[in-house]
Amino acid sequence: MKILVPVKRVVDYNVKIRVDKDTNSVDLNNIKMSMNPFDEIAVEEAIRLKEKGHCDEIVVVSIGPEQCKETIRNALAMGADRGILIKSEHSPEPLLVAKLLSKIAQQDNFDLIILGKQSIDDDCNQTGQMLASLLNCSIGTYASKVDVDNENILITREIDGGLQTLKLRKPAVISTDLRLNEPRYASLPNIMKAKQKTIDDVEPSSLDIEMNPKLIIKKIEEPPKRIGGGKVSSIEELVDKLKNEAGVI
Ligand code: AMP
Repeated sequence: MKILVPVKRVVDYNVKIRVDKDTNSVDLNNIKMSMNPFDEIAVEEAIRLKEKGHCDEIVVVSIGPEQCKETIRNALAMGADRGILIKSEHSPEPLLVAKLLSKIAQQDNFDLIILGKQSIDDDCNQTGQMLASLLNCSIGTYASKVDVDNENILITREIDGGLQTLKLRKPAVISTDLRLNEPRYASLPNIMKAKQKTIDDVEPSSLDIEMNPKLIIKKIEEPPKRIGGGKVSSIEELVDKLKNEAGVI
């Protein structure tokens, strides 16, 4: 089985986001970037499937600028076999990502695509679903457990009121939930080995995809500053404030 894992380079989850009013975008200057956490879980799951003997090759793919190679290298250091960088000035909108990924998946006949359920920067949660639709294949979203049963993929999903198990025919798309696994740290020898692994550059035009966005971001603004709370000395004061200041009762 061949597994494709898309990995997105995003602002690290510990960084406090700043908005650059001049460019109407998130300020990325001197900011720590990391692999989208849900994609780390996807890489880990692919490696575990390989360790169990279910997979022959894991390919990671990122769409974005040259710096995304750092993210790809991290995935290679964790244990993926080779990488692909689809060159783009910045990460495109989900439909374009899905179109590019569908071309790669078809070209190389991938059996399984494991991606994050959402990117922590745009919170879109769209790419996996659009990709499965473009490939006309089965999809299991928010997987909290993945197994292989002969020619099928079994996934468990946490849904309202219990656990749902789905049997997916290959080729299939899976999106990862937070509880699927705990990603490993890359060891020093594996970081060194990753330097020798191949990363191929691909131009979107060579995949016959025009990078014309359909979405326009009109405005990005920081959330309003939170005003600190205060202490009340009695229930009567609290009720009075709720009634006369907050107007909620
Ligand atoms: P989204 O639909 O934007 O929330 O993203 C869902 C998943 O799609 C992510 O967790 C990634 O696995 C994948 N993805 C989105 N954008 C990119 C990108 N620029 N490069 C690689 N993978 C991506």
